[in-house]
Amino acid sequence: MDYIRQPVSEPSERPFMIIWETTQACDLACRHCRAEAQPLHDPKALNTQEAKALLNQAVAFGRPHPLFIFTGGDPFKREDIFELVRYGADLGLPVAVSPSGTPLLNPANLQRLKEAGAKAISLSIDGSTARRHDDFRRVPGSFLLTTAGWRAAREMNLKVQINTTVTRYNLHDLPNIFRLVQQQGALTWSLFFLVPTGRAKQEDEISAGEYEAVMHFLYDVSKYISAKPTEGHHYKRIVLQRVILEEKGLPVEQYIDMHPSYYLLKQDLDRIVGELNLTPRETIKRTPMHINAGNGFVFVSVRGEVFPSGFLPLSGGNVRHRSLVDIYRNSALFQELRDVNLYEGRCGLCEFVGVCGGSRSRAFAMTGDPMAEEPFCDYQPGSFPFQKELAAHLEHLQPVVKK
Ligand code: SF4
Repeated sequence: MDYIRQPVSEPSERPFMIIWETTQACDLACRHCRAEAQPLHDPKALNTQEAKALLNQAVAFGRPHPLFIFTGGDPFKREDIFELVRYGADLGLPVAVSPSGTPLLNPANLQRLKEAGAKAISLSIDGSTARRHDDFRRVPGSFLLTTAGWRAAREMNLKVQINTTVTRYNLHDLPNIFRLVQQQGALTWSLFFLVPTGRAKQEDEISAGEYEAVMHFLYDVSKYISAKPTEGHHYKRIVLQRVILEEKGLPVEQYIDMHPSYYLLKQDLDRIVGELNLTPRETIKRTPMHINAGNGFVFVSVRGEVFPSGFLPLSGGNVRHRSLVDIYRNSALFQELRDVNLYEGRCGLCEFVGVCGGSRSRAFAMTGDPMAEEPFCDYQPGSFPFQKELAAHLEHLQPVVKK
């Protein structure tokens, strides 16, 4: 079994996923908002015709078509959202939408999305209770609106991904959110590791040791439900380390210096698993994808700037002046980000770099240099004791290898 999933096509040629920021307008004011959402729609945003041209460009990458995600702000704040979803779906794009937890997230709008051809939505849950979630989202009632929208979407067979931004405010609430996801049902639970950009602040971050703890917790959770990280690329390193230790029948605690938070998360997870009478799978349910910013992934801003990630606001060009395909394949920024030989610090020395590479977004947010080392990875290159076994696993992975 491959424990790191390869995209079916060459990621430097065709992204696995395109995310378009439809608007920055939103009725929430979340603590960590990447988009620095505001109440009003930007008059300089791509208009309906420009948005359709963008969808045509997405199709021009060829088959298999990239997944096209309409995000925001709140996409429901755009009057033409249903028209655009239908246009993309009619072109053959797999389409998903990321609405906000507001009164616009209602059964009527969800039904319209479904009829327009959307296959899935993603919703944010950042706390296991209304008080915890609404405090984070800064709008009372958001938790109830989000969970009601979640239920309504499931009832009409729209797939639902639940996103949770990991911060110091909800670190120890994660097992309770797992319980909610397990009970209410979701396609995937995605843990967003914070990037201090937009309204997100460095002081909201958990520590590097806590990153490791949460990623090991995520590995444990993946034995029960489909779960993955976003902007947490070193999870791929942790999956490989855990798999190798499991293959050798060795206890993880003896070979990996765990942060105390892991034991607290694990204790709560074990209790919840016992209460729900769940049985773990032998292998994790969802293996992480071998993609990174600008390599399998691209983000188009509200004004058409093409970023390698929504958390890495460096532009390779603008879709108003140059095709998305050309920017993605040929811009200097995107080509440089794909060259792991240019990565610096520990990432540049690391045996996992070809499969991990760290978050280029977080490196940029914290140092101003997207090639700097991942600031929230604790790994010392070369320190994992089973290098021969690791090399055997890495052999199967291509094409990003360290030259
Ligand atoms: S040092 Fe960099 S490449 Fe190595 S595991 Fe950490 S983030 Fe990944």
